[in-house]
Parts: sequence; C-alpha cells; structure tokens
Amino acid sequence: MKKSLQCFKWSLLALSVGLSSGVAAEEKYDVMQFLEAVTLPENGIGAREAGTEKEQSTADYVMQQFKAMGYAPQVHEFRHPVLNKKGVFLDSSNIIADVKGLSEKMLVLGAHFDSTGSKVGSQGAMDNGAGLSVMLTVAKKMSQEKKLPYTIRFIAFGAEEIGKVGSRAYVEMLKEDKPEELAKIVGMVNLDTVAGGDFLYVHSAHTTPYKCGGNNDNYTSETQMREAVLMASKEQLGDEAHKIHPEFPGYPEGVTGDWSDHESFACNGIPIAYIETTNFQINGKDGYDGYSQSVNPGLWDCFDAESVTACDREKETQWGRIWHSGNDQLIHLESVFPGRIESQLNANVKVLNAFFSQADKYLNVD
Ligand SMILES: [Zn+2]
Repeated sequence: MKKSLQCFKWSLLALSVGLSSGVAAEEKYDVMQFLEAVTLPENGIGAREAGTEKEQSTADYVMQQFKAMGYAPQVHEFRHPVLNKKGVFLDSSNIIADVKGLSEKMLVLGAHFDSTGSKVGSQGAMDNGAGLSVMLTVAKKMSQEKKLPYTIRFIAFGAEEIGKVGSRAYVEMLKEDKPEELAKIVGMVNLDTVAGGDFLYVHSAHTTPYKCGGNNDNYTSETQMREAVLMASKEQLGDEAHKIHPEFPGYPEGVTGDWSDHESFACNGIPIAYIETTNFQINGKDGYDGYSQSVNPGLWDCFDAESVTACDREKETQWGRIWHSGNDQLIHLESVFPGRIESQLNANVKVLNAFFSQADKYLNVD
C-alpha cells in the first residue's frame, strides 16, 4: 500500500514537471485566451447556463472565433421543454464549422459550451470552458492545414448540462434531414472537463449498450477512436500520455457511461473517444469511479493521503471535485494548481493537432 502510494506521488510529480517543461516550451497556443474569454466573469462571460443570455453570448463568441479563423460556421437552433414548467421552453443552439479534407469521410470534434452549478459558485471553467477552448485552438490550427486526410467538423454543443440536449438534437436532425451527412461521420472525439483533474484519460463507449432513447440497435462500443487518440498521445506526450482507466464496479477498463455528448454518436454507430481529466485512484464518495478529480488537499475539507480518501467520509463535503462545484473557477484553480491548467490544455491541443492532421496514420477507416 505504502509503496504504491509513493509510486503514485512520484508519477504525479512526473506529470506536472513533464507537462510544464515539455509542452509549454514548444508551440504557443491561444488556448488560455479562449478559456479566459469564456469563463472569467469580470472581463469574459463566466457561468452560462442552458437557455440563458450568457449561453447565447457564448454561442456568439464561438461564431466570431470560427469566422476569424476563416470558417463559415452554421447555427443549429433547437428548443427544449423546461423541466417542471409545462408549456415553457428554452432556446439554445449548436455552432458548427467544417474544414475539408482529402476524404469526404468526416471526424467530429465536439465540446459543450454551457455550464451548470452557478448557484454553488461554478463558472464552468473546466466543465467545459476547458474543452471548448481546446476545440477552438485545434480548429484554428486545422484551418491552416492544407492536406487534412479527413474532413473535420467542429461542433460546440449547447444545453449539455440539462440532458445532452444539443448533441441529441443535432444527431436527430442529421438522421431526419441529412442522413447522407450522418453516414459520412466515421468517428467522434468528445471533450468534457479536459483539464483540472490529476490525469488525462481517454475512454471508449461502454461495452453494455447505452439506452439510446429506447432504440440501441445501431449502438457501437468500438474502440478504434480511443486507440487512435491514445497512439497520438503516446507519440506526443510519452510517459505523460492519456491513460485508460482501470476496471471498477460496473465499468470494464477504459469504457465510460452515457453522460456527455458522445452518447448520441455511439447510439448511432459512430465510434467515440471521450477525453477527460480526473483520478480513478481516489476512493471517492461512491468508490473508485473517477468522480473525485484530484488528491490536492485544496479541493477537500480534509484529505487523507495514506488511504487516498476523505479523513472523515461522513463529514466530507468537497470530495476533490471540480465539476459542478464552487471549485470550478479559473482563478481559484490556478492558485490550487499553479501551471497545471495551461499545461493540460496544451497537452490536449498537441495530441489532437497530431491526431486530426494525420488521422489516416492513426485510424484505418474504410
Ligand atoms: Zn461537462
């Protein structure tokens, strides 16, 4: 126990040292500018719950950024019933931008731009300002590439936090109105909370099919997207590459549940890779399920490093969680983890730039 804990501490140290020296020194990305503009309430947007003006401002911001990169972005608007309020609807949208590749076959990179938990102080910095910022940074790079092997579709999804409404509406729209476009999509990468947690992970869809709204005939749990992203990550980051989580009750190694925007794609036969940061080595509130994202004592009422859990499991209120909590504020997280957020964002950008620009090397899609 003691020994493995020391190894674990050592690997954490290696992670932070490796990332801060290795990645930041090479190419400078705009990722922090995007993150600050979207998540800082003082001079940016801040919390942006589904259906609010702030969510709309974020959609406008994403449109502007895509346009500045030379894209011709599309808006997909949708309307959704407000929970427990009969006859009341909220409006939201997805923002979509394509860059043509040598093949018409398409890879999707998606990230939701709404946030939740503002009542408890969340500004949606990591969930999911981080994912959105990485997506925008990769989109900028890909707009400058001349010979992309696959066409790439970037999608900023609205209203994820109230039930993956944007991604579900989007895939339903494709099914009904543009089945030929849906058929071109050969893989999807979902970015949700891609910084803040102790380690970078990449998951595939669960081996047990998701419910898929009652029809999971087309569901796929194929792992080729996860493996392709992993291969790019190992090449780009070496020992600090994205990991596969270990098995825990209900979840075989490396697979994830249906709780983010990858769901609708897996339900429609599209292999997915889902990138997030967390820590599956913590004995969290409900066990080793990855809901506790960090061992950093600043995110716990009291953390016991020896047993890798709360000092008092009855009294703990924070559980090392960032998402949907008052911890999800950029300024706060930068004081808890100096340098970590930028390093992890850059690491994700580096891996995804390599993956999308050489997707034919990593994927064998017929
Ligand atoms: Zn999220």
